[in-house]
Parts: sequence; structure tokens; C-alpha cells
Amino acid sequence: MPIDATQPYDPNNIFAKILRGEIPSKRVYEDEHALAFHDINPQAPHHILVIPKGPYVSWDDFSAKGSDAEIAGFVRAVGVIAREAGMVEPGYRLLANIGADGGQEVPHLHVHLFAGKRLGPMLMR
Ligand code: AMP
Repeated sequence: MPIDATQPYDPNNIFAKILRGEIPSKRVYEDEHALAFHDINPQAPHHILVIPKGPYVSWDDFSAKGSDAEIAGFVRAVGVIAREAGMVEPGYRLLANIGADGGQEVPHLHVHLFAGKRLGPMLMR
């Protein structure tokens, strides 16, 4: 079910539980500002999710309320993760779904990293 991206942060969302180590994930990267793990239902040969450690519902929430250090740390972490995963060449796609029309289902900001094949058009036609 897509979420309302303006809702208050729910500390019991599934990615908050992954951050706290309450449910398992296949972690690929962690630093002060970001955690990355494999998507449970991959939609490309390589499908990694990157989340900030702070309590942000969506990109909208994070870009409005995140500190400069959190935002810089998160953006740099996404770059490191893609480079370490060997995605830069031959290429990859970043995606962040926001709210109902964006199709966001988990109310903790996450950036999808897709790679490993030609990904086709940006949106369904
Ligand atoms: P979105 O539609 O952008 O909110 O994407 C949510 C993503 O989270 C989907 O691609 C799901 O497959 C993924 N997902 C949901 N639960 C888990 C989980 N426990 N571990 C890893 N990925 C998950």
C-alpha cells in the first residue's frame, strides 16, 4: 500500500527495525549516516536499498529537515556504495519513490540502486 509521505515518522516501520537490527537484512555498507542492504524482492540483477540513519519519512522530509552533515553524508554514501558494487561502469539507476503517486511503500526514506542489465525506459509507457 503506498503511503502518505506527509505522515509523521513511524519508528516501527520495517526499515527502522532493520536499522536497529531487530529484523535481518543482507547488509552491504554502513557508516555514520547510511545503511545499505539488498532489496528482498530484487527488480534487477543488482538491487540495493540505501537508507539514512535518521528518522526521515521520505526524500521530501529529509531534504527539508536533514542537517547538512546528514545530507552530505548520505549522498556521498550512495556514491561509495555504487562504486564499491562496480555499478559506475556499465551504469546504474537511482530511484526514490515519494508518497502515493510515487508508489512509496515503506515510510523511511530509501534510495533504490538498480544495475546489472539495460534498465530500459525510466517510466512505464
Ligand atoms: P518503495 O516502493 O520505494 O517503498 O520500495 C520498498 C522496497 O522495500 C521494495 O522494493 C521491497 O521489496 C523492499 N523491502 C520491503 N521489505 C524489505 C525487507 N525486509 N528487506 C529488504 N527489502 C525490503
